Amino acid sequence: MKISVIGAVRSGVGAAKLSKKLGAIPFVSDSGSKEKLQSSISVFESEGIAYECGAHSEKVFDCGLMITSPGVPTNSEILKTARKKNIKVVSEVEFASWFCLGSIISITGTNGKTTTTALMNHTLNESGIKCYSAGNIGEAFSEIVLDVKKDEFVALETSSFQLDFTDKFKPKFSLILNITPDHLDRYNNNYDEYIAAKMRVAENQNEDDFFIYNEDDSNIKINLNNKKVQKLAFSLKSEIPAGAFYRKGKMFFSFSGKVSEVCSASDLFIKGEHNIANALAVLAVAKLLNVPNDKIKNAFSSFKGVEHRIEFVRELEGVEYYNDSKATNVDSVIVALKSFSKPIYLILGGKDKGNNYDDIRDLVQKHVKKIYAIGVSAQKVYDYFHPIVETEKKDSLEAVLETARREVVEGSVLLLSPACASFDMFDNYEHRGKVFKNIVNKLV
Ligand code: ADP
Repeated sequence: MKISVIGAVRSGVGAAKLSKKLGAIPFVSDSGSKEKLQSSISVFESEGIAYECGAHSEKVFDCGLMITSPGVPTNSEILKTARKKNIKVVSEVEFASWFCLGSIISITGTNGKTTTTALMNHTLNESGIKCYSAGNIGEAFSEIVLDVKKDEFVALETSSFQLDFTDKFKPKFSLILNITPDHLDRYNNNYDEYIAAKMRVAENQNEDDFFIYNEDDSNIKINLNNKKVQKLAFSLKSEIPAGAFYRKGKMFFSFSGKVSEVCSASDLFIKGEHNIANALAVLAVAKLLNVPNDKIKNAFSSFKGVEHRIEFVRELEGVEYYNDSKATNVDSVIVALKSFSKPIYLILGGKDKGNNYDDIRDLVQKHVKKIYAIGVSAQKVYDYFHPIVETEKKDSLEAVLETARREVVEGSVLLLSPACASFDMFDNYEHRGKVFKNIVNKLV
């Protein structure tokens, strides 16, 4: 079969390679420039996969199946034309799932997907259950799917874009962590359409499968139509009859009328209430797979988190240094500030995407001792915060840390949680986080 793959980045490369391995004839098309796609092109050339870049030609319609990548807008001309020509269009995740012998644990939501996927993968593997992680995290699903055996699992970080083009995608477990308006532009600013896209994950699940949702998020409950799938929930606020919940510092699992205490929230090494919620979702799956409590407890305490997400870097003379470079918006800073009971010295700023700091004003007042403002938005940060808390502008992270090393008092936290993109001073948030950690690790 001829298969056209639209988009030549991670998932497109994976889909093309998988198609080829399965004996189909892939053709990859990307409207991006040759220079930008250089690393993908070298894969196509070494694998003997046909491709074009710069524009989509008519050749893409000469196929029996089209696989689209998450970056391709749902209403783009190329996908519209394919549908008009009655070409079946599927996402890379859908395509890969056709060849998965193991069970899929799909993890979706607006925030916390990567962390939860990594914690799921860690918890199952630490408990002796073979699990792979794939999707937006690490490798594309197509890259690993043929390695997955029956009785093994894939923790799959699934974006709603991947769910836009599903058909038979059927996870054993589908987890929805939370839904807040994000990327609404992809759904013609139609909130119902956006939620429907996320709910599609449960569409093909049946009575042997589990849908695990966040009870505290009202957007999720209202919109589930599938009556067959077993529904469990997780909650920080209420003791639910089926699923995982938090009460007075402990995590519980409740199922078939039985409630059991599994572990303490303090067993979890990663910080913050939001991470307790993420861990409850993992706990529910682990308990359904009969993982013993002590294994879950050990896995939660040995999971050190994902790089750049409230990542502990080191402690020096009673000061804890944390890298939260992934916090590129105000919402992420909210969860970071709530994660600490100690006084915080906060590094804010970078390339501002139209931030409104009113949402963190009270939290800053309550938790933050001083702000160091960096990047092109340093002045904006300074203007907003200096009437509330001591704020100082700095030219670089080096300059911040030089001053902070002298100023930050024992028993406090120095936190990089910038609320801004990094592109004014760094290649990306990963680069910013690495530079920060490098400087911190050299402090004496
Ligand atoms: P995603 O892969 O969905 O972007 P990450 O695990 O990379 O999620 O976390 C990104 C940021 O989202 C974290 O730094 C944190 O600020 C925030 N976050 C993580 N989990 C949650 C949650 N359950 N609820 C709200 N915010 C969260």
